[in-house]
Amino acid sequence: MITNDRITQYIHSLESSQGNLLDSIEEEAVRAYVPIIRRETASLLKTLVAAKKPNRILEIGTAEGYSALLMCQVMPASCHITTIEKYEKRLPIARENFRRAGEEGRITLMEGDADLHLAALAAEAEKGGPLFDFVFMDAAKGQYLAWLPFLMKLMPAGGMLVTDNVLQDGDIAESRFAVQRRNRTIHSRMREYLYELKHREDLETAVIPIGDGVALSTKLS
Ligand code: SAH
Ligand code: MG
Repeated sequence: MITNDRITQYIHSLESSQGNLLDSIEEEAVRAYVPIIRRETASLLKTLVAAKKPNRILEIGTAEGYSALLMCQVMPASCHITTIEKYEKRLPIARENFRRAGEEGRITLMEGDADLHLAALAAEAEKGGPLFDFVFMDAAKGQYLAWLPFLMKLMPAGGMLVTDNVLQDGDIAESRFAVQRRNRTIHSRMREYLYELKHREDLETAVIPIGDGVALSTKLS
């Protein structure tokens, strides 16, 4: 944990149920070691969606659909979520969870690698295809920087990008050499990604030490 454990525990103690269905989806995911968003991150995500009232949400990293269904609880009735997942084992579970929640109509699950889907969506956007005014990025951390140019094409001015897991359990603040060798590539890629988010003139970004670290960015122009 990034922040003091007692504070995190206290924040958790304030959380209430997300409803029976979502609570059981969360429980099943945790039991299967699916890396779903943490409780405090879930609250932040819902608050942001409620404030932003987006028309179209893009999620990268569906897993079993938990975070997509959380966003459904607070998004406008006419909002649509497109969510991308490549891990075949998780696809039928996500689909079934969307059905259980009665949300198949408002969620499109894109199967396969986000590399391909993001490039295709960005190419469509350039030809007048749909833009996404809210993006939740929660997939392969090493790819975030490579995907950013696509996301910039997919968001209108005023669009919001929420990126999860940016502080890597605090490792991000350590020197490259203090990080385990197998985590070093991810460590430097995430630092480059955060640097880019903070230094682009067309983004305003805040890095928040909540959960595993969340970056909130708004596209300015
Ligand atoms: N957002 C989910 C958790 C996502 S976990 C929730 O909070 O409920 C991250 C997911 O991203 C994993 O299921 C993994 O299979 C998927 N993923 C990782 N790299 C990907 C890629 N390149 N394309 C599509 N999905 C990817
Ligand atoms: Mg995550």
